[in-house]
This record gives sequence, structure tokens and C-alpha cells, in this order.
Amino acid sequence: MGNDESARDEGRTHGFATRAIHAGYEPNAENGAVNVPIYASSTFAQDGVGGMRGGYEYARTGNPTRKALEGNLAALESGTYGRAFSSGMAATDTALRSLLRPGDHLVIPDDAYGGTFRLIDKVFTQWGITYTPAAVNDLDAIRAAVTPATKAIWIETPTNPLLNIGDIAAIAEIAHAASATFVVDNTFASPYLQQPLTQGADVVLHSTTKYVGGHSDVVGGALITDDEELDAAFAFLQNGSGGVPGPFDAYLTMRGAKTLAVRMNQHCDNAEAVVDFLQGHPSISSVLYPGLPEHPGHEAAARQMRRFGGMVSVRLKDRQSALDFCSRTELFTLAESLGGIESLIEHPGAMTHASTAGSLLEVPDDLVRLSVGIEDVADLIGDLEQALS
Ligand SMILES: *Cc1c(COP(=O)(O)O)cnc(C)c1O
Repeated sequence: MGNDESARDEGRTHGFATRAIHAGYEPNAENGAVNVPIYASSTFAQDGVGGMRGGYEYARTGNPTRKALEGNLAALESGTYGRAFSSGMAATDTALRSLLRPGDHLVIPDDAYGGTFRLIDKVFTQWGITYTPAAVNDLDAIRAAVTPATKAIWIETPTNPLLNIGDIAAIAEIAHAASATFVVDNTFASPYLQQPLTQGADVVLHSTTKYVGGHSDVVGGALITDDEELDAAFAFLQNGSGGVPGPFDAYLTMRGAKTLAVRMNQHCDNAEAVVDFLQGHPSISSVLYPGLPEHPGHEAAARQMRRFGGMVSVRLKDRQSALDFCSRTELFTLAESLGGIESLIEHPGAMTHASTAGSLLEVPDDLVRLSVGIEDVADLIGDLEQALS
């Protein structure tokens, strides 16, 4: 059985791909199983009252398969503590409830993930929380958004769907000067491309549904931190409100995480080739990709990311051209979500970000978002070419 100590050691001493494959679990002492078993057990026998064997009593509180995943995810983020949740939104909800009390304020991206915005705007405001959206690539705007009541600065980088870049180290300074907790939703980059805890973030959040799971076959979320108190608060709500992944989901997520390094390199190779193609195409009015030297966040991205990721957004002539593009691709599947091995295309204004319509966070209606998969890139470019012609 892996445990916190071995996950931590792994996180400090081995390279990323090694951690991805080994951290969180060691071959089973009893039978040598190299993969973590799916412990389909909701309760655990005790040797006398209060006599837990190996620290487990009830599976909402803890399950060995989930524990292995949590150690793995902590190691991938070079962090100390990992907590797995039933979805990215369950992780988001847990982080928000751990950090904020009625009367508190937080700063969020002005192009936040639609579900994050919806939860804060529709639910947390009812409990006396206020928020200010600020562009993650505008440090002055973030500074100006901070009030004496600010308890958290929350960012995504790259953002969804505009792929703006927040300078993690610089925003960490702003947050800490205000005694606010700095949370980075690292879903778009994945821990392979960027490790925010090493650059000053206090909490890293993942929708593991995306790159970490990587195969579009499981929904999950995670919170990773080096702060023991924060981790205790997350663990309290993980058990207290119960948004936990089942053991099969935890197993699938961990299976996906093992290949994160190779998948991400292929996602990045393919995205770079797709960007090259789209930049030269007359139907495309602009390509948003942090790897482009003219991208406003390129410098910060180059500093804090290993490579620039598999997400590419483009703007077309107008809404209709964007909708037509989305409906004509054959290999790029029209679907929400991202980060899986298969390529996806979507219209954020009508799909993932429909809930931001009419708000400050509304996205342009000529925008199309591509999650570039790891198919043969010539086939992907051929598909985009026929869809645009
Ligand atoms: C998908 C996503 C979430 C929410 O995660 P779920 O697993 O769908 O609940 C949060 N943040 C970002 C950036 C996402 O892409």
C-alpha cells in the first residue's frame, strides 16, 4: 500500500513521468498486484471497537483506491496533500466552502470556466459571498479588484475558452500581500505542463475529467496543497459533505494519470501543427494559442509552462461561420469537455459558456474552441481543412 510518506518522497525525488507511474502505490505486499486494486468496499472490519486496520473505517471517509490516487495527484503537482472528489465542481465547491464565510469576497477570472462562475454567481452569492471578475492577464485589474474583505484570489491559466495567461508568481504576491488564499485551477495545463504550488499558489484544483483522466471515460476532481490546515479543511468537507469518487472512478483516473507525460507531449505536438495550419487559413480571423509569440501571455506562459498545451481557440468571421465550422468537422467530435485523447470542437457561446450570456463574462460568439487530441495530425488537419472550405 502506498501512503502519504511514499507519495511525498516520490514527489521530491523522481522525474514527472516516473512519479506519474509509481507515486501513490507500491505493488501489493500480499499478492504483488502492480496496479492498485479497485477496493469495492463501503466499510472496513475493525479489530475490536476503534481498532482500524490500516486506517480505514468507512469509504466516504477513506478508501484505499482513492488514497492511492490522492498520493499520485499530490506527487504530480509536487505537493504534499491531495484530495480526490467526484467531479471538478465538487472540488471547486469544497474549496470555496473551506475558504469563504458570509461577508467574504473573492476575485475570479473574467473568463472563468462557466460552471465555476455559475456556482459562485448563483449559489455562493446567496450565502453572502461577493466576487469581482478581473482579467487574469491584467495584474493592475487584479490588484484593483482586491478589497479588505478579499479572502481568495482564484484563477485559471490558461483560461477557458480564451486561453489568457495569468502570471502565477506575480498573482501569488498580490494574494499574499492581501492575506488571501491563492487558488489555481490547473485543469487546462495539467500538472505535466505547469505546477502552480512551486510558483506560489496555495491550492491547485483539477477537473481530472480532462487531461489527468485523459480518456473521456470518468468524471473527477482534486485539490492539492502543501498547507496542512487547508488540507484538513478539505478532508473535513470531503467526508462531511461526501463529494467523493467511487473506487472504480479513482482507479480509472489513476490509470489515465500514468500516461499523462506522453499524452501531453503528443497533444502539444498536434496543437502546434494545427495552430500553424489555422494561422494561414483565410476563414480564420485569429488564432488564440499561448505558444504564439504574438499572444499577449506568451512571455508568462514560457516562464511557467513546460509547453503550451493542447487547447486552441479561434475566431471566425461571425457567429454563423463559427457554428458552421463546428457542425462540419468529422474527426473533431462536436462535444463539450476537453483533454481526452480524441479531438473535440465546440462553440463556447452556445455550449460550455452559455450560462455567461448577458454577464460580464460573456464570450465572443464567433469563437470556436478545439481540444486537439492525439490522433495522426495529418488526419486532424485534413478534417479542419474540409470543414472550413
Ligand atoms: C471542466 C472544468 C471544471 C469542472 O470540472 P467537472 O469535472 O466537469 O466537474 C472546472 N474548471 C475547468 C477549467 C474545467 O475545464
